[in-house]
Amino acid sequence: MGLFHCPLGAPYYEDDACIDCGLCYARTSEEKVEASRKIREYMKTSIPRASAVSKIAVCGKGGSGKTTVVALLALALKAAGRRVIVIDSDESNPGLGRMLGIRDEPQALSRLFDQDGMFSLRERFSMDDIPAGFMSAADGIRFMAVGKILDPFQGCACSLADTARQIVEKLELKEDEVLILDMEAGVESFGRGVERQADTILAVVEPSLESIILAGRITQMAQGMGISRVGAIINKVTSDAIAARTEQELENRGLKTYGALNYSVALAEAAFEGRPVSDRVAAQEAAIIIDNVYNGCMTKQ
Ligand code: SF4
Repeated sequence: MGLFHCPLGAPYYEDDACIDCGLCYARTSEEKVEASRKIREYMKTSIPRASAVSKIAVCGKGGSGKTTVVALLALALKAAGRRVIVIDSDESNPGLGRMLGIRDEPQALSRLFDQDGMFSLRERFSMDDIPAGFMSAADGIRFMAVGKILDPFQGCACSLADTARQIVEKLELKEDEVLILDMEAGVESFGRGVERQADTILAVVEPSLESIILAGRITQMAQGMGISRVGAIINKVTSDAIAARTEQELENRGLKTYGALNYSVALAEAAFEGRPVSDRVAAQEAAIIIDNVYNGCMTKQ
């Protein structure tokens, strides 16, 4: 029982099987957009209740502070008693491992999929199947990285996105495990279907119009994929008034807010010096956000 996808990727619940969205016979981009609208409508009206929180994808505009937010949420999840797995799936931005206190960066998971043909053929795998060297840990948080574009002739990032998509799809989690992914900035990963098997999308939004507009697009795309738990985290907040205005702008675009993180000098200094994230107030704010995500609460009811 639960959410399934038809062979084309359209979501359906339990016995519905085909929701007649038209995606499989859509040819023009207008027809595909219309199919996506029908999927969103289906998700809004047909879902009895949201699925459990187990695979969280954190998205947002470049510069919104997405990676720092992932580190703070991972620590908050661990403090809440979850066994946390963090995957760095941002192909450009380095530093998430450092923010979590990881000393030895693991080998890129893209190498595991490239070199071990048998591994990429598996339909499912668990954390116990990840070979040594492809995972590091600090303070009980396990950390893996998809890989980075480091060389001018390395090729495009499609193979890295494919690795990320396979991990989200195939990794089977135990009951107390939760996966949190730092996605590539922007919405390209949605076009590649990386988030398809995530159950929760969190859009990190800094108080800027560009960031708010992008969050609106993220919401549309996530709902078009059949993901119902989608919400915003407002980051780098400098005043209550700015937080309230940003939240209102997000609501106008159909996006609810799970919570806000105030601008932190301590976090900015840690990022500048390459130290692990550490800020008592930010940790409390992240704990509230995690609580809201698990309890389905938004800042406005
Ligand atoms: S109409 Fe939609 S749900 Fe039905 S098979 Fe085609 S893509 Fe899947």
